Amino acid sequence: MGTNALISIRMEIITSSQQMHDWSGRQAAAGKTVALVPTMGYFHAGHLSLMRRAGELADLVVVSLFVNPIQFGPGEDLARYPRDLERDRDLAGESGVDVLFVPSVAEMYPVPPATRISVPVLADRLCGRSRPGHFDGVCTVVGKLFNVVRPGTAIFGAKDFQQLAVIRRMSSDLNWGVEIVAHPIVRESDGLAMSSRNSYLSEKDRATAVCLHRSICRARELVAAGEGEVARLLSEVEKVITIHDNVCLEYAVVVDAVDLEPQLRVGGDSLLALAVRIGATRLIDNAMLLES
Ligand code: AMP
Repeated sequence: MGTNALISIRMEIITSSQQMHDWSGRQAAAGKTVALVPTMGYFHAGHLSLMRRAGELADLVVVSLFVNPIQFGPGEDLARYPRDLERDRDLAGESGVDVLFVPSVAEMYPVPPATRISVPVLADRLCGRSRPGHFDGVCTVVGKLFNVVRPGTAIFGAKDFQQLAVIRRMSSDLNWGVEIVAHPIVRESDGLAMSSRNSYLSEKDRATAVCLHRSICRARELVAAGEGEVARLLSEVEKVITIHDNVCLEYAVVVDAVDLEPQLRVGGDSLLALAVRIGATRLIDNAMLLES
């Protein structure tokens, strides 16, 4: 028997919320800690890095794989969102995951949910402007996952910085008692932030997509050289991005990393956040401006 077979046998696949809940109850009774990594699947090295981190933080790792329909708007990519359960199962098994929780839509939403969790103060800006209702969908599904899995820790990627801010606030406002851990952005060798949606990009669009990271590097370079004026930084960032004829810049902003308030001058908590459309693909990226 090969090692892969051994590793994947160790990982349990659970599709029922009740079974997931029972599993968590048994682990809690045995005194085991659980870390949760919520995902929509089609794993790349970024997801796998979150899974390994989860393994360092708790006795047991649960990864949820659910393409959550209520966080997609009309006309967004729900139907064509990339999926490959077999490959995901192998990759999770090799990354030390104990349970892959893969509920169906009917399992998660047996009736259309009448309840939503909203954090409008953080959700209605930035990505929320072009994706109304998106973060309500994210908060609602993450809240359900917290109740079903009952983790002590949940790991989220810093790539989705607004999601992270919204979930931190939701979790603390509602006393979930889940420690929210941010994991740094994992990038391709040319700097493009890894994303399941990168698979949509044509060769030309893929080459253009590097401009996001390039503009971040330019901004950090200027800040390191003493530039503190946000307006001047953003004008440089825009130049690096809009030089390409196949990019539409949705936003480039400098905000406080915690409360997402726009800033006029760079400080220790300044985050540069970007969203663009390249062809039909929407990509986001961000970085702290002063972090080493
Ligand atoms: P997704 O499957 O795209 O919903 O992502 C699941 C989790 O992985 C989220 O917490 C994301 O922020 C995180 N993630 C996705 N891509 C990356 C990346 N390139 N680096 C770090 N975390 C990521």
